[in-house]
Amino acid sequence: MRIECVTCGYPYPEDRLPHLCPECGGLFDFVDPLHFNTKDIQTDMPGMWKYKSSLGFADGYQPVMLGEGATPLIWVNKLDRKIGLKLESQNPTGSYKDRGSAALVNYLAWRGITKTVEDSSGNAGASFAAYAARAGISAHIYIPANTRGPKREQIAMFGAHIVEVAGPRSAAAKAVIEAARDEVAYASHAYLPFGLPGIATIAYEIWQTCEGVGSIVAPVGHGGLLYGIIKGFEALEAGKYIQRSPYMVGVQAQACSPAVAMYYGGEPGAEESCLQTTVADGVRIVNPTRARKIIEWMGRDRGHFVAVKEADIHKALSELSHMGVYIEPTAALAWAALGELIGKIPEPIMLILSGSGLKYH
Ligand SMILES: [Zn+2]
Repeated sequence: MRIECVTCGYPYPEDRLPHLCPECGGLFDFVDPLHFNTKDIQTDMPGMWKYKSSLGFADGYQPVMLGEGATPLIWVNKLDRKIGLKLESQNPTGSYKDRGSAALVNYLAWRGITKTVEDSSGNAGASFAAYAARAGISAHIYIPANTRGPKREQIAMFGAHIVEVAGPRSAAAKAVIEAARDEVAYASHAYLPFGLPGIATIAYEIWQTCEGVGSIVAPVGHGGLLYGIIKGFEALEAGKYIQRSPYMVGVQAQACSPAVAMYYGGEPGAEESCLQTTVADGVRIVNPTRARKIIEWMGRDRGHFVAVKEADIHKALSELSHMGVYIEPTAALAWAALGELIGKIPEPIMLILSGSGLKYH
């Protein structure tokens, strides 16, 4: 699978693990659609690993795994519609990030990397710490000082070294880049493309469970979740299994909605689009790495972005909880957007519930 800088075409080096293009600072991405062929599905493999060939691992490679993927898909009612819920909250560490972490960590293990640094105090950090532990890779996770809560506890329990960095979130991001050296890889979930084929397996599972889904609605922080799903459906299109991908909707909290602003012509990284705090803290990202590519893919008629109000996120969380679905506020974004989406986008609608409520407090 060929990986190049999306800006200048610089090929991804085999002897180093840069998180951005060393020539121009651009983002690395897969050049061609991911490979998907139903003949290659390994039904004897657990979870997402039945799609191992689409993840780019050779036949003989034995992946480390924790049971990621094959999450349940259930149907509930809202405004006389049947709405699909893909329960990504039920992955091993409680979020969809496990699919990306599993793919990324196996790639690192295959490359023989034994020392890594990463910067996330949230689901991505907890997930990466788990898979690094499983693979025997050491992980230093840089987080803003004074970050507390269940996700930090998860990171520590998995045995990752927590490095506290004073100042805002961006200070931790800066410190981690300085810490990354030749023998220490910056295993960035946000920048590196290696997790995307893992997230793409969500699309294969949806397609195999219910052919003919009209729209997919997912929360967007960096955009890796929605972009990974787009890549999965792109692979299904390339393999001629579907004629056209479902309509894609990216949801952000109005308090921090830079991708929505970019979709409507705003500048990337504009601080004014992310001034307020939100209960959906998992998507509070000022400069979403994959937003530009998602917007390009959406074009005029393949999808759009929406922003939802704080009150609607709280209401969504309550509605889902009262149906027995326990998720974190970030995952409630998709449900919160339903009110303005139903009747305007193709049906049936499938929501991606990204993370568990058990980790939120
Ligand atoms: Zn470049």
